[in-house]
Amino acid sequence: MEWSDSALVLGVGRFREADLWVRLLTRRHGIVTAFAFGGSRSRKRFCGCLDLFNELQISTKTTRNGMYLSLQEGILVRGPQRLRSDWNRVGMLMNCIRFVEALGVSPDTSGEAFALVKETLALLEEAERVQDLLPVLFRLRLASQQGYAPALRACARCGKTLFDPAGFSVAEGTVLCPDCLGRRENIVEISGKSLDVLRRVQEESPLRWNFAASDASGAGDEALLPSERRECARAVDGFVQYHLGLTWDKGRFRRV
Ligand SMILES: [Zn+2]
Repeated sequence: MEWSDSALVLGVGRFREADLWVRLLTRRHGIVTAFAFGGSRSRKRFCGCLDLFNELQISTKTTRNGMYLSLQEGILVRGPQRLRSDWNRVGMLMNCIRFVEALGVSPDTSGEAFALVKETLALLEEAERVQDLLPVLFRLRLASQQGYAPALRACARCGKTLFDPAGFSVAEGTVLCPDCLGRRENIVEISGKSLDVLRRVQEESPLRWNFAASDASGAGDEALLPSERRECARAVDGFVQYHLGLTWDKGRFRRV
């Protein structure tokens, strides 16, 4: 079988002398690992473009026994500049990519995941400031896309739309107003502003997620306070761990 697709390079490595393996997030085929035979030598077929974070147009072929995917050709669509040297941003993007790999991408949501990673990459490449909360926000968005969306709009009991401080029930994956909160366990108290940020992350492109980034002085009208960044992280990571069984540990996501 042969197919062509758009792809982002999530990982690349060498095996044998002249061959490469490449892990790709594709627009229509989810995450795949393909082998580029002669990849480290053949500039004609791969234009030297099999580098991390590059966007490619690829054609592939399944080998005769159906055992693996062979990369036939790769054409560079765009490659990052800043993400070749800004290690803080590289670290943030790698964290996002590790989460994509840990969660997996089903073929029917592949297009959304591809767009999400591509736009997150563009944000890290172009934005003057990027908030350190970015990987947390990415986890919320990807989980929501892949069918695990916490309900953040209104109180899950009485239906009241919430603007004020509320409680996020990690186990139920919903917000509750103070009147309905009762004596539950595993509640993250969350400010109206944090709640607004998390809602917008569920709806808006990553290119617009800089609403919570502070300027150089740490100020900024929309900047989240350190306490608000912490509650966002506790709510999202609590949710991800409880419902998806994943936790970030020593540079990778681990099943819990
Ligand atoms: Zn309520």
